[in-house]
Amino acid sequence: MEEIKNVKGTHDVYADENNAYEKVENLMKSIAEIYAYQGVRPPVLEHSPVFVRGVGEGSDIVRKEMYTFLDKGGRELTLRPEFTAGIMRLVVQNKLYATNELPLKLYYVGPVFRYERPQLGRYRQFNQFGVESIGHNSPLNDVEVIVLAYTILCSLGLENVKIKINTLGDEESRNNYRNALKAYFAGHIENMCVDCKSRFEINPLRILDCKVPEDRPIIEGAPKIGAYLSKDSQERFDQVLEALEALQIPYEINQSLVRGLDYYSETVFEFHYKSKEGNDYGAVGAGGHYGKLMSELGGPDLPGVGFSFGIERIVSVLKDDGLLEDVKNQLDAYIMPLDKESMIYAEEVAVILRNSGGYKVDMCFDNVKLGNMFKRAANKKAKFAIIIGENEVKEESVVLKDLAKQEQITVKVEELVDKFDELYEASYGEEEEEL
Ligand code: ATP
Ligand code: MG
Repeated sequence: MEEIKNVKGTHDVYADENNAYEKVENLMKSIAEIYAYQGVRPPVLEHSPVFVRGVGEGSDIVRKEMYTFLDKGGRELTLRPEFTAGIMRLVVQNKLYATNELPLKLYYVGPVFRYERPQLGRYRQFNQFGVESIGHNSPLNDVEVIVLAYTILCSLGLENVKIKINTLGDEESRNNYRNALKAYFAGHIENMCVDCKSRFEINPLRILDCKVPEDRPIIEGAPKIGAYLSKDSQERFDQVLEALEALQIPYEINQSLVRGLDYYSETVFEFHYKSKEGNDYGAVGAGGHYGKLMSELGGPDLPGVGFSFGIERIVSVLKDDGLLEDVKNQLDAYIMPLDKESMIYAEEVAVILRNSGGYKVDMCFDNVKLGNMFKRAANKKAKFAIIIGENEVKEESVVLKDLAKQEQITVKVEELVDKFDELYEASYGEEEEEL
């Protein structure tokens, strides 16, 4: 039989790496909760127009990257390439905007699918965590979303995260800017890549996003949005920057930042981090304000702002910089029954330590020599061993051994949890700090 392998561009997550994903996602969720966001789980499958209309026909995602197919009932469906448009569909359909206080603040985590060329930091199925704050136009809403993202990255241990920020202005600003870009690129488009040629026709703003090195010098010479901003948009952007400064959030303005999705307006931003290994995985997260997305999907005319992190990229930079040492799989106790007759009693002890003590406990089901069981305990990085033989079963006790100190005592089973707490605290108490 032909060997069965995973689909190109997907990846398996297991062992310590899975712990890393759990740690990263849990920390993101818990900080989003502190910022008063609530979780949502939109479906992976949506009718294609959600993304075609939402993300925009001119975007690379819709033009080239969507997993779109007909189901057996003839419906045209798409595996979500991002969350924002699907969440907006969810909000509109369930009328979540009909509440007496906006913004509506939602977070999400899960897989997304894009048919891209797989390479470092780029998969076809990857995971995103993100938030949307919907229904309030205050520039402070944009700022709060940026502060949340920045706080999460800092809490993961990443220092020197770079925030690149720009404004795309309102519709009037963008129309003027689009015309200026059209005039500029008209003189250069002959010498640019095929993608840029079609971007020139569909939406010349997209050209600024081109990653082809030969096109970059032409793009660097293009007019900048700053000169085309309406008074309102300029003021709004200034207010965003002023608040970021007051909150001591470092940023750098990058006027060629336009983002790859058509729904953005006003504030846009990206988070960059160079790991010490020097690997460039691309932006670890990105987002911005969107003015017309909800009305585009048939809802009321409410704006929103959000960001999205690439979990794979974040796990990669954390791994490169040694910031995942604490997620290694480690047992609190490994239970070692010395003979077949001790097995059931050993299982009872394991259940007591797990259910009453809350400890991470595993037990040896094989009837092997004690030396072998100690080797297994070391492999599982167990902190304590619990040895149970004929005597212990009779006495209703266990031998409890601190594997770091190499000291052991005999404990009655009814005192086990208290004694375990005490010894654990003595050896590992300070390590138990919460993030
Ligand atoms: P890029 O410019 O790198 O293609 P993007 O602008 O397409 O990114 P977004 O749509 O804003 O990215 O998605 C948010 C985040 O998701 C990105 O900042 C990145 O961390 C991550 N991401 C995007 N595409 C991929 C991918 N193919 N594989 C892994 N992570 C990705
Ligand atoms: Mg992309």
